[in-house]
Parts: sequence; structure tokens; C-alpha cells
Amino acid sequence: MDRKYVAPPYRIKMVEPIKMTTKEERISLLKESGYNPFSLRSEDVYIDLLTDSGTGAMSHFQWAALMMGDEAYAGSRSFYRLEKVAKEITNYKYIIPAHQGRGAEQVVLPQLVDRDGLYFISNMHFDTTRAHVELAGARALDCVIDECFDTENYHPFKGNFHLENLVRIIEEKGKENIAGIIMTITNNSAGGQPVSMENMHEVKKIAVKYGITLLIDGARYAENAYFVKQREDRYKNKSIREIALEVFDLADIFLMSAKKDGISNIGGLICIKEDTDLYNKCRTYIVPMEGFPTYGGLTGRDMEALAVGLNEALEEDYLEHRLDQVRYLGDKLRDAGIPIQYPTGGHAVFVDCKKFAPHIPFDQFPAQAVGNAVYLEAGVRPVEIGSFLLGRDPDTHKNLESPLELMRLTIPRRTYTYAHLDVVADAVIEVYKNRDSLVGLEFDYEPPVLRHFTARLRPIK
Ligand SMILES: *Cc1c(COP(=O)(O)O)cnc(C)c1O
Repeated sequence: MDRKYVAPPYRIKMVEPIKMTTKEERISLLKESGYNPFSLRSEDVYIDLLTDSGTGAMSHFQWAALMMGDEAYAGSRSFYRLEKVAKEITNYKYIIPAHQGRGAEQVVLPQLVDRDGLYFISNMHFDTTRAHVELAGARALDCVIDECFDTENYHPFKGNFHLENLVRIIEEKGKENIAGIIMTITNNSAGGQPVSMENMHEVKKIAVKYGITLLIDGARYAENAYFVKQREDRYKNKSIREIALEVFDLADIFLMSAKKDGISNIGGLICIKEDTDLYNKCRTYIVPMEGFPTYGGLTGRDMEALAVGLNEALEEDYLEHRLDQVRYLGDKLRDAGIPIQYPTGGHAVFVDCKKFAPHIPFDQFPAQAVGNAVYLEAGVRPVEIGSFLLGRDPDTHKNLESPLELMRLTIPRRTYTYAHLDVVADAVIEVYKNRDSLVGLEFDYEPPVLRHFTARLRPIK
């Protein structure tokens, strides 16, 4: 705690070699990918910072647990092990596994929508959550504090709900038309920014006052709990588990992508506090969607690894190191004058490419241009979160302009060392020095939906 940076609280027992490529190779690989790193083969990537989802390293306890998997279709022992762990963490009555976060969403959200004209309100919907809200026939409204979009200035909890706007939206739409309030912790889309306990308590009061169901979309609830401990004085002597329990106590439903703070390669969870009727509906509906409710699309061994990973993700030494890695990379970039979302959040450093490459207009995708240059420089794969991802207006077919053009450097859990992060920082700094030579991109091929996954681009000469 008293050192500026902490070394990893683990040592290496098994290694996975990664390939180094030459700059010449990367020039042709990037060209073949259509200047879209999503189309690169992972073996052509040296340090892969595309996502922290399912990309973490399992512990030897998790690998050992895999052998204990009970692959029974119904009533698997592995399910009961997972259920016990999830109940201990949440203090909720009902636990159903799902194949990943979006699996949990597709089962639960439709149960909360019984007619047209309903809304969900979140600090910020994650994109699959928004998609499932809309597929269920409802609308997704975001209401996050304004500080969230001010990347330069410090705010301890940029993921917080804008409480006045929340009340205003409920009053405007009518409380009977709000299907649920979704607390996304940490706030993924805003840069993994945490939500304060104080804010969550205020949201709870509003939910109670208007009689609205409160959900937690808590893929990174453990990281959020660590931020609460660090930044809210009242919680500095509480354990992460106590903080997490206090958060879960506020809500009615907890949905989780276990590929994040479950430190598993696959998995999701549906946890319901006490609503037996909702539980029964989910238990029925999940059968054709994900699978029988004691496996929900997971193998027995997945459930074993998840049961172990959920507990490991709550260990303070682990969390301290995890958040320190993100801060370390962020500090290095900031020290070099590179604009980032500050302070850094829980799982990634977001580089503000509107400021990095102001000469590239939004519809030539500045963050994609910067990301590609970082790949060329050192074989590091970032991901664009900006206008390229946002797509076009379905009616006018015009390119939408994202409020932020971000390059996300996402840190997988327990996977890379500080030395890898030094390579990443050096590459981004080198690109920054030569930023005036960056050029925008135009389409060679643009798919009609979710274009960022398969589009082909070319640099504008
Ligand atoms: C990742 C994520 C999801 C979706 O989970 P998947 O496991 O990718 O399906 C939902 N909400 C949040 C906040 C997430 O980060």
C-alpha cells in the first residue's frame, strides 16, 4: 500500500508464448485486415488490449476446479457449488447461471416488459443491455452526470447517476411506464468509471419512492467496490465483501457478465433477491434460450471455474493490483501529455482521440486511425469506441457523431505484466509524437449493421 506501484500478487506457473512481428509484417497484416484490427488474427497481435471480457488468466485453483466439473444435465453438483458462492456474495435467494451477460439479459429483461411504451433508465446502458431492452420492446434512456464527458478533470465517481435528471425522466414519462432502473457498475461505456455508494443509495430512495424495480448490471461490481473503499471515507475500513453486500442489498435483481469480475473465460449470472414469481418466469424462459436452469448454457466445469473466480475477484490484493495496472498505464500516458479519460477507471485506459488527432474529422474515425498506428508501432491491439462504432442514423443514413472519440486500451485480468504496459505506453507515446502525420479512414466495405466488426477501410491519401 505504501509503495507507488505494486508488483503482481501472483507468480507465473504456465506461460503462453506470444508472437513478435516486424513492422513490415504488421504493415501488410493491417492492410489485409482492411485497417480494422477486429479482423486481425490474434496470433498476429503482440499485446491484445481489445477487451477484458473473458480474456483473463485463471488461477491454479480455477484450473484444478475444472476437473471437478459435474456435467449432469439437471441438478449438477457444480451448479450447487456456484449457487452457494453467488448466494454468499449477494445474499440473494435465487441464482441462475447463463452463458454470458447478454444471456442473462435476454432471459430477464423481457419478463419486466409486459406492454408497449415502457422505458429502462440507466446511468449508461452497455450496448448489449441496450439491445436487449430494445428487443424486449422497451426504450433505453441514459442519465449520467455531466462530469462523465469532461475527460480532463478529476471526479472520483464519473459513473454516477444524474439524480435530478433521473427524477425528471420518471416524472415526464410517468412512473408506471418505467420498467426498471439499471445501475451499471462500473459504468463500462464511460471508461469503467465507478458509481459511489452515496449515489446508489440515492437511486434506491428514488426507486422506492416511485415503486420501480432496481437492477444492477454488475459485470465489474468488485472493481466498483474497491473504488468505493478507496474514495468514500466512510468505507475505508470495510471489506470489499461488506461493500458489495451493501450494494446488492439496494437492488432487486443482479445481472452479471462473469467474463469480467468472475475471472472466467465464459459465464453469466442471474441473481434475484426474493421475487419468487420473477424467478419462476426466468426459470421457465431460460430453458429454450440458454438451457436448463442448473446449467444455463455453461458446462459443469465452467461453473466450477466461475465459483472459484468470483471469490478471487473479491480479494483486496488482487483488486489493488488490478486497478494499479490501469492507473500505471494511464499515468505514463498523462505524464507524456496524452489526453485520457481521467482518472482512469477499472478496466481500461481511454485515450481521447478528438484531442489526440484533432485534424481528423469524426467521420474519418480519428480513434481508429490512432489505434491502427499503435498496432503498426508495436503490435498492440486497442479498440475504437467512437463514431466508427456508433454507426449511422437508421433514418437519414448519415454517420452519427459520437460525443467522444476514444481509443480503449483494455487490460485483461492477471494476464500482462508492467513490462507489457511499458511497451504499450511507449508505442502510444511514439504515435503521439508523430500525430500530425496520421490520416483519416474511409470505407472499402461497410456492412449495414454492427459495422465495426467486419468493415473494411482504407487510409485517405
Ligand atoms: C460485458 C458487459 C455486458 C455483456 O456481457 P457479455 O458477457 O459480454 O455478454 C453487460 N453489461 C456490462 C456492463 C458489461 O460490461
